[in-house]
Amino acid sequence: MAYLATPSATAETIRRFDFNFQKKYGQNFLVDGNILKKIIDAAEITREDCVIEIGPGIGTMTQYLAEAAGKVIAVEVDKNLIPVLKETLSAYSNVKVVNQDILKVDISRLAEEENSGRPIKVVANLPYYITTPIIMGLFESCAPISDITVMVQKEVADRIKAGPGGKDYGVLSLAVQYYAEPEIVMNVSPECFMPKPKVGSSVIRLTRHPKPPVEAGSEEKLFSVIRAAFNQRRKTLANSLANSTFLLDGEGVQLKITRQQVCDALEKMEISPTVRGEALTLEEFAVLCNLL
Ligand code: SAM
Repeated sequence: MAYLATPSATAETIRRFDFNFQKKYGQNFLVDGNILKKIIDAAEITREDCVIEIGPGIGTMTQYLAEAAGKVIAVEVDKNLIPVLKETLSAYSNVKVVNQDILKVDISRLAEEENSGRPIKVVANLPYYITTPIIMGLFESCAPISDITVMVQKEVADRIKAGPGGKDYGVLSLAVQYYAEPEIVMNVSPECFMPKPKVGSSVIRLTRHPKPPVEAGSEEKLFSVIRAAFNQRRKTLANSLANSTFLLDGEGVQLKITRQQVCDALEKMEISPTVRGEALTLEEFAVLCNLL
């Protein structure tokens, strides 16, 4: 089987199929076999694993996944790539290609149908334009995903990994860290792709927590407090949260919070009333949320 992970094999394949890169689909194909091997290693794939790959492109990463995993479900939105994948993956009987938009796939159902509801891994060189909805959609789907190892824009990896205090820390850091432990596996140069992206890239592994690390009572309330806290970063937390309304889980009840209530809660937590949202840890947000 000819591997596609070189510039010449990729160029030859797209020429043969008369394929045109679609910018709107974030198509930057990997052309470096060493990077692919490192991604497979970081994802710790074994023959026991069922892997979902998002956006197989011409099948470059899929070949490596198929050789390591028991089963690979590759979800590709671009119908022009389906005939290419049919040929480049013809040697692998353990790969199923699904021509669909990943944001419209019922991941829980897919995991149930393809792996009898057992834990699945997600591995991908993601289309960067929808990185956040993909990652949050996977976590919020309640599908049994054990870990996610993906190539993302470097700036996004830094934001996911960030802790309190820095400029990268925000809603994305807290939302992802609520569900998983992030680890930056490596940074990847634009030279490793065809065509070369204009931004740097990083591979990040998100290992799902067996249960969320904090008790927030209501996830919906926790995330709305966090979103409101970072809405205007330069304001103090008390000013950001003052007069915000939060939906209480499921019941459609709206909770309006006053500045004084936030200050009282911060006092109980022995935190200055002039603190900014970016200084609080996930745990502190959970405590604050329970006090409000
Ligand atoms: N995995 C290939 C590789 O590494 O060479 C291609 C990665 S490329 C960065 C992103 C891939 O995601 C493209 O094949 C693109 O067509 C596909 N894609 C874009 N949007 C998608 C979506 N909503 N659902 C599924 N696939 C999508």
